[in-house]
Amino acid sequence: MIHSQVFKQLNRFVAAAASVLMICGLSGCGMPHMQTASDIVMDTIFTVTVYGDEVFPSELLDAGRELDENVLSRYAEGSLLNGYIKGREEGLTYELSGRVIDLGEYINRCDEISDSSGGAFNVHIGALCDLWNIEGAVKEESGFKVPTQTQIKESIADSRITDLGSVGKGIYLDLVKDMLDEKGVRGAVISAGGSVLVYGEKNDGSKFKVGIKDPFDESSADPYAVIELCGGYFVSTSGSYERYIDLDGVRYHHIIDPVTGYPAWAGETGIYPVSVTIIAGEGFISDALSTACFVMGPDKGIGYAESFGAEIIYIMNDGTYLTSDGIMTKDEGRTVFSLKV
Ligand code: ADP
Ligand code: MG
Repeated sequence: MIHSQVFKQLNRFVAAAASVLMICGLSGCGMPHMQTASDIVMDTIFTVTVYGDEVFPSELLDAGRELDENVLSRYAEGSLLNGYIKGREEGLTYELSGRVIDLGEYINRCDEISDSSGGAFNVHIGALCDLWNIEGAVKEESGFKVPTQTQIKESIADSRITDLGSVGKGIYLDLVKDMLDEKGVRGAVISAGGSVLVYGEKNDGSKFKVGIKDPFDESSADPYAVIELCGGYFVSTSGSYERYIDLDGVRYHHIIDPVTGYPAWAGETGIYPVSVTIIAGEGFISDALSTACFVMGPDKGIGYAESFGAEIIYIMNDGTYLTSDGIMTKDEGRTVFSLKV
């Protein structure tokens, strides 16, 4: 059966129609304004909430679009990544909001993560992603066919297409953090698809709460668990519940194991991850590691995340969870994670 993504599509449609524009008024005497805006950026919903007037949410959303179109998208004709794929080796930098984005450096860092993760992470598997084309099949709700072994082998060997879908939102959040620093913003929550930056302080001084989506019911508004954090952290979740097709009892989804060429854990019969959340001090790292550690599984992935100073939460297919040592767990009617420090 092919699962439709009606809920998500609907969300997208509503966000597109409204295209940025909920600006809330004063949130209390003496409190800074809280401004919120949403839009579709990088093919997913970005929602920006800022406390105070130092920056307009639309500026932050515009920066995401500019970053995607000029640097990260492999489809945008004029982007640096598009040029890189066509063989360009020089001039791979772009200045955005006073900050130099160095595509070559990001690709090198991705390659280092590829090496140290034993190949679980690899941004040069665009051909393999295109072969499976899970996203396209989900959108069209038809036309999905499991590729043949020969096709898979050929695509594994083809490293011509680089795809930065696994790190784009994290790179965006690092850029936004610099913009917020520079403008002296008091507090903000920036949600870019499955990656979130919690920044500074909330108006009421309480901790930020970031929900981990329920991987067993993706349309549910109730999260599987909540992470309580103070400002300054990046939280990124990758899972097999987001863009997938179930066929003959196997879940085919958009995170591919570059070694086998199949969606990670597809067809596995034991206990395996369905969602991985990384908490880190850098957006790029949180995004890259959520993808890498999903493929690696908890036995290798927990230590691997810790080696970057990051914390990790795995949700397994049997509904249980596993975390790194730095995570504290409370049960308050629902599971609440926080950092031990
Ligand atoms: P999302 O983009 O849904 O937030 P991820 O951050 O986990 O999810 O990135 C998944 C995307 O990364 C895929 O859509 C694909 O473009 C790319 N990708 C898939 N498998 C890998 C992998 N093993 N290593 C690097 N990139 C991958
Ligand atoms: Mg990722």
